[in-house]
Amino acid sequence: MMADALANAADTKACVVGPGAADGAAEMFRRLFPSDVKAILVEDPRTKSVAGDNVASRLKEAGVEVSEYVVNPDGSDFHATYAKVEEVREAIRASGATAVAVGSGTLNDLTKRASDELGQRYMVVGTAASMDGYTAYGAAITKDGMKQTLSCRAPLGCIVDSAVAASAPREMTASGYADLIAKIPAGADWMLADAIGSEAIHPLAWRLVQEPLREAISNPSGCASGDEREVRKLCEGLVMSGFAMQAMGSSRPASGTEHQVSHYWDMEDLSFGGRPVSHGFKVGIGTLFSTKALEFILRRDLSKLDVEKAVGMWPATFDALKATFPAIYGGRPAHIRRAEGEMAKKYSTPVRLREELSTFKRVWPELSERLKAQLMPFGEVREKLRLAGAPVEPEQIGVTRARFRDTCRGVPYMRSRYFGLDLVERLGLMDGLMEELFGPGGIWEVKDED
Ligand SMILES: [Zn+2]
Repeated sequence: MMADALANAADTKACVVGPGAADGAAEMFRRLFPSDVKAILVEDPRTKSVAGDNVASRLKEAGVEVSEYVVNPDGSDFHATYAKVEEVREAIRASGATAVAVGSGTLNDLTKRASDELGQRYMVVGTAASMDGYTAYGAAITKDGMKQTLSCRAPLGCIVDSAVAASAPREMTASGYADLIAKIPAGADWMLADAIGSEAIHPLAWRLVQEPLREAISNPSGCASGDEREVRKLCEGLVMSGFAMQAMGSSRPASGTEHQVSHYWDMEDLSFGGRPVSHGFKVGIGTLFSTKALEFILRRDLSKLDVEKAVGMWPATFDALKATFPAIYGGRPAHIRRAEGEMAKKYSTPVRLREELSTFKRVWPELSERLKAQLMPFGEVREKLRLAGAPVEPEQIGVTRARFRDTCRGVPYMRSRYFGLDLVERLGLMDGLMEELFGPGGIWEVKDED
């Protein structure tokens, strides 16, 4: 699997996941970069002590000249902001060396973008199973007050030391677990998009994500307790997701409705207890919603669908759809602008919608069986997240139920990509889904508007 992943990766030429893998950092560095190249480790005080010092001494032993750049040496929190990218970029530039990021999501993203801006490649030594970005291209950076994915190449080499990751703070592993279990409903979203020719399934990318997935998420308690073998499987699953994105040149293999929920909260700078909520924790709550939405669709027999009735309920023009946005987004201009831009690409005319729904009607007996096989029941997803130590209620990440409902209602228009939620809407069932989940007796019943 790793050989297939590397053979089809646009940017990454070497990857090792395993206990003690960081010990091999010098050997990989030597193999990937010319012999006269110096190294600069980009780390923070914690990652320096758990892996950076080891990597530095291995590099020195191998005859590599090493310097280091410790981000926030006082140990204070930092985030993936563009100001930090510039800080790291200037440190790398001044050193005249090739960067080795030692850390997880934030340090990797900062180094990835900073190196790319200098026209340089870099490698990463991952220290936590906290997200799937190690081997992905692009970096999630807050710029001009908005979190965005800035373009940049994936690392030339990637090491994830699963022994180090197994002893990382528990919530980091829980976050990565949630980012990985998300690939279950994300896969179902992709099947739906594939069925109507909106985005065809890329067979290799699908296999890289979906084949190791069930085994990788099979033991959430083991992940939570820091069992190295379980954390290793988690790391491998996350790394494979990054490779799938590289193979396809798209985040589709790793991202569905649940990631749109997370991006929505990124737009709103969601924080809880004064700290930003981790990507995986947002995605985990999104995964619960997405699973519910897909189960809601699967309770319908679309082979008996009244296509004309559904087409009749759909806004007949793009302007008619746009007219609904101010109410859906409570008049917030940034949300409305984004929805208008994305939906200009995703809006289906009635003629097109008739084709889409007729296709679903025709293929439903076969497609619904594949979707059922793909999905994990809501109760099981929820229990697994709980055992992994991830939040299972929106309130646990500082989101009230009313806010959660409004997010879920607003999500379908925020990305031009086709998801299960689009089908709910195009069947004329969005209000029904919202009522079932957030109305009286619903799993996230909104008791009082707050
Ligand atoms: Zn993710």
